[in-house]
Amino acid sequence: MLHPILPWHQPIWHTLLNAWTQQRLPHSLLLCGTKGMGKAVFAQQLAEFLLCEKPKVRDDLPRTCGYCKPCLLLKAHTHPDLMPVEPAEVGKQIAIDQIRHLIEFCTLTANYGRHQIIILNPAEAMNHNAANSLLKLLEEPPKSTMLMLISHRPSALLATIRSRCQRFDFSRPDKTLAQTWLESKISTTHSAPLLLNLTAHAPLAALNLIEGEELNKRRELFDTLAQLPSGKLDPVKIAEQWNKQTVTQVLPWMLSWTMDLIRYSQSGHSHVLINQDYREPLQRLARQVNSRYLFKLLDLQQDAYRLVMGSTNVKTQGLLEVIAIAWTEFGR
Ligand SMILES: [Zn+2]
Repeated sequence: MLHPILPWHQPIWHTLLNAWTQQRLPHSLLLCGTKGMGKAVFAQQLAEFLLCEKPKVRDDLPRTCGYCKPCLLLKAHTHPDLMPVEPAEVGKQIAIDQIRHLIEFCTLTANYGRHQIIILNPAEAMNHNAANSLLKLLEEPPKSTMLMLISHRPSALLATIRSRCQRFDFSRPDKTLAQTWLESKISTTHSAPLLLNLTAHAPLAALNLIEGEELNKRRELFDTLAQLPSGKLDPVKIAEQWNKQTVTQVLPWMLSWTMDLIRYSQSGHSHVLINQDYREPLQRLARQVNSRYLFKLLDLQQDAYRLVMGSTNVKTQGLLEVIAIAWTEFGR
């Protein structure tokens, strides 16, 4: 049996199930949207639906039998006709060897006589050579192959790859729908509107926030940052602490708070803040500083974020020291 379909996926299922009923399912799909929309969940569910021996459509939703051999193999994550392709490490590239392996997989006959399914995630992690060799496969996909490319940034893909796939956009769900869904998954100690605000309304990202240590890290980071302007902390030591964490997670929080400070100092209204749980300290901080300094701080952090996202060889300690010093000089 499939896990419940995410409610904001229903329109996409509707389109695909129609095509499936009419045996017009495309061979290559491009599943696009920001992180946290459940694209990988969708790809896995579609794979399970296509591999089941007795799939059904009921109430406009896909169903698998849950007991056929392929269903049992899928449950055990050992179905030989489903191939996930991902970078060897998070943030690394998908190499040409992985694509060669994928192409070989497509030349085999499906073990269970149905489909050969590949889920490539994220597609923008393919390096140039890898993307070019995938292109050849996309030009002439073998008959029983279904290739699903997941992309958080489709603009980063070769235009020729985009044009050879049928594209589905996973856009942000309606606020009420996202909130109702999230509230059904979390305890009442958490605020669904706040979690959604913090994750740009991507429901699965909002759920992930409370499942790991991320919210605690956010709290510690904010407490330190809010104390830096007092001048009582050593910015170099603080930068060392930050540097022990994942910098690509630390910087987005700082950017989010700086944006909130700008929003408040420009509008004078606290309801415009994204980080509603830090309303009071943010208002207090915003009163200590002028907008020009906030924009300078924003630039500094944005530049640092671009650098660390663009290369793995950045000396992050130095970048974080400059940021910590800027927060220390805040309001002077
Ligand atoms: Zn089945």
